[in-house]
Amino acid sequence: MTQVLLAVILAACSAGERVPGRTTSKHRRDPRATLSVPDALQIINRIHPGRSMVPVSWPGGKGVAVALTFDLDAELVWMRSPEKATPSNLSQGQFGPRAGVGRILRLLDARKIPATFFLPALTLELHPDTVVAIRQSGLHEIGYHGHAHEDVRTLSAGDERGAMARGLAMFAKVGLRPRVHRSAAWNFSENTLGLLREFGFLFDSSLMADDRPYEIMSGASPAGIVELPVDWSLDDWPYFQADGAGASMGPRNPDDVLAIWRGEFDGERAAGGLFVLTMHPQVIGRWGRIRMLERLLDHIDHSGGAWYGSLSQIGEHVKTAQ
Ligand SMILES: [Zn+2]
Repeated sequence: MTQVLLAVILAACSAGERVPGRTTSKHRRDPRATLSVPDALQIINRIHPGRSMVPVSWPGGKGVAVALTFDLDAELVWMRSPEKATPSNLSQGQFGPRAGVGRILRLLDARKIPATFFLPALTLELHPDTVVAIRQSGLHEIGYHGHAHEDVRTLSAGDERGAMARGLAMFAKVGLRPRVHRSAAWNFSENTLGLLREFGFLFDSSLMADDRPYEIMSGASPAGIVELPVDWSLDDWPYFQADGAGASMGPRNPDDVLAIWRGEFDGERAAGGLFVLTMHPQVIGRWGRIRMLERLLDHIDHSGGAWYGSLSQIGEHVKTAQ
């Protein structure tokens, strides 16, 4: 009898019907309805912001630190599933190393501005010439952006550790020992912070609890990693990047985005803070957006009080200034 009842329930669930007294994924109960404060804190405190680490001053007595960061996701950002990895989508990624990076490097190198390029490890072998070009100027840092831009939330602890070990081995093979980490799409799993400690990262740039540098806490203990925080409003992707199907996002007028970014920079300049911009060569590399970035740099330069640093340079200054 029980087996008959179970078969009826399973049949109803698979048909997408509501079974009285039970829930389906379509009608999953929101756990916040009965969430207690201790339970909320247990979730929140797994990874949370600790003390602020904004220094009294930036090098040279400058009033604000500026970090220009470029995530060279190339094709890998479109390879999450076979359905996504279409020739059309992959070609959007290819624009980054093929056209975007050269324009970015010319702009930065002409102004002697150091930047941070985040690379998934596979990029080192998929686009070796681009990596050589980034390293050639001697100004720029290369940070770690996953083994192949994988979503760590989908991985077991063992799989995530294996991916990081393989990725860092690929970095080591070309003489790179990244000290700064940025997770793909800024996602962390339960295990990510522990792995960053295990593999010796000093800095992360994936979280958003502040717009000033801060210490990352794991439970009640400092994790020993300085967060150099990001924000979606300071990322070119949501403004400009159409998804594979057309246009659930972007494109926006670069002047509108420039106004948003200038406003954030001016605020950080007044507050003595940190301005971290996240860009993607496949997005910012379009001419209208390169011009927008150029105009932003003009604005920053005219402020007269900005110090440009790679994320590790900024992180080192933050740590020694404590
Ligand atoms: Zn990315």
